[in-house]
Amino acid sequence: MGRQRDVAERTECVCARCGRRMPAGAGPHRRWCSERCRRQKLTDLDRRIEAELRARLDRLASGATLCPSEVARAVAGTDSEEWRELMEPTRQAGRRLVAAGVAEITQRGQVVDPSTARGPIRIRRAR
Ligand SMILES: [Zn+2]
Repeated sequence: MGRQRDVAERTECVCARCGRRMPAGAGPHRRWCSERCRRQKLTDLDRRIEAELRARLDRLASGATLCPSEVARAVAGTDSEEWRELMEPTRQAGRRLVAAGVAEITQRGQVVDPSTARGPIRIRRAR
């Protein structure tokens, strides 16, 4: 499906929920990095967040970045404070899109490793 590649097709082995690299020694068919991710799995809400992120990335000018909070607010609805709870799921969706070759995560304009980056991030289309 073109850019809608499934996580199974990516080359780097990352968790299907949080998008972080698998821990050393993880088997080749492992899907979740941790018991926590395995329990949470991927919900319909996660898929909505990822779809919103993809749509916004598609509309971005080349090289422009977006803040995960824009996506979280859009999914939560403007009158809701729920968006704060959607920030981590939005960052997780961003990591999955990096693994899928769709996005890059940046800090201060530099591409960073999504598995280890701490603090505020921005997301842009992969080049
Ligand atoms: Zn995980």
